Amino acid sequence: MALIVHKYGGTSMGSTDRIKNVAQRVAKWHDAGHQIVVVPSAMSGETNRLIGLARQISDSPDPRELDMIASTGEQVSVGLLAMALHAIGKEAVSYAGWQVAIKTDSAFTKARIQSIDDAKVRADLDAGKVVIITGFQGVDGFGNIATLGRGGSDTSAVAIAAAMKASECLIYTDVDGVYTTDPRVVSEARRLKTVTFEEMLELASLGSKVLQSRSVEFAGNYRVPVRVLSSLTDPLMPLEEEADSGTLISFEEDSHMEQAVISGIAFNRDEAKITILGVPDKPGVAYHILGPVADANIEVDMIIQNQSVEGKTDFTFTVSRGEYTKALGVLEGIKDEIGAASVIGDAKVSKVSVVGVGMRSHVGVASQMFRTLSEEGINILMISTSEIKISVLIDEKYMELAVRALHKAFDLEKA
Ligand code: ADP
Ligand code: ASP
Ligand code: MG
Repeated sequence: MALIVHKYGGTSMGSTDRIKNVAQRVAKWHDAGHQIVVVPSAMSGETNRLIGLARQISDSPDPRELDMIASTGEQVSVGLLAMALHAIGKEAVSYAGWQVAIKTDSAFTKARIQSIDDAKVRADLDAGKVVIITGFQGVDGFGNIATLGRGGSDTSAVAIAAAMKASECLIYTDVDGVYTTDPRVVSEARRLKTVTFEEMLELASLGSKVLQSRSVEFAGNYRVPVRVLSSLTDPLMPLEEEADSGTLISFEEDSHMEQAVISGIAFNRDEAKITILGVPDKPGVAYHILGPVADANIEVDMIIQNQSVEGKTDFTFTVSRGEYTKALGVLEGIKDEIGAASVIGDAKVSKVSVVGVGMRSHVGVASQMFRTLSEEGINILMISTSEIKISVLIDEKYMELAVRALHKAFDLEKA
């Protein structure tokens, strides 16, 4: 008997029929003698609908109130799933995040989990019940509901698996694993049987939304075995076959079966670039520009500072598109104080990244990437690299072309 956490995403919970399928699948695992905690997301489209309602009332809704609304989709899901399990004769109980309790900080809309009290959940499991816990939400130290950012149910599930020392966290979704890139963009994308934790962390943080990046961080910090697999298969398929399907996130590079130089390509459409022109080039320039941006809680990604000409330089950085207007406002506010000439920006840029641990032992990956983009006539606006990834910022209209061309150039469709 093992303790296993199942997470089901929006499409997997997308209709009452799908929820009945989830119940059958969960019951199958429970019947095999396992203790099961289920973490569902809201039904597909529901979180967008809820946030849309808030935006009809206000352009900049109060984050606490936004979380109050956005978190409700998951509450509907857990109740429906508990009922679906009851209907097939399984004992099941549902909890909202605050009832467990899943404690978070107070950074509404992007809260971080601080602790999870598993006493109640363990007692229910020991009494033979399936326990269903809302994804995406927790409660802060003042009793306020806080959400974990879009896609946060992945993080809820892995964090619960870590806190309870579960033997595995199974992330059921609408694709049958992690692919070399988003299969909706490149139809030749290939499923990976395993992906190293480091690669998955890069892919997720560079935009592959198949897993929220914080969930991968949790998996790494607590060594939680995570598998991504399909919820759209026959729920009654043989358990052994299902348990071996999808993509396993592995912690050992040796077990990385597909020893390719590049394992995957990630992209993020929602980038924006800001340049502050004619800044006096003296010690502290980066601090004086980026300090106020950080104080406004805006995350900065790529950064470049140009060669200085006659004591003046230009400074460019990227932020997520949702924070573009706010970041421009911050810079307009400090422009005169730091003696800059002007601030310009472009909110129609995207980032494309190639990722692979094999890059450590291979030279020429960057040149192949840049050659491929140049052959397609795609101009590179910014570049950033780490040991296992190379990212480029490009005009958003070339993003899909770039991903397809790179997928082909690195032979990713071939096993
Ligand atoms: P869920 O609702 O189950 O959390 P998401 O929509 O958040 O599902 O994530 C699954 C989606 O991630 C897939 O439908 C796919 O379009 C997208 N995706 C992006 N990159 C990848 C990748 N490398 N492998 C598989 N899916 C990917
Ligand atoms: N329902 C939330 C969202 O749409 C959380 C999740 O799906 O993981 O972002
Ligand atoms: Mg998701």
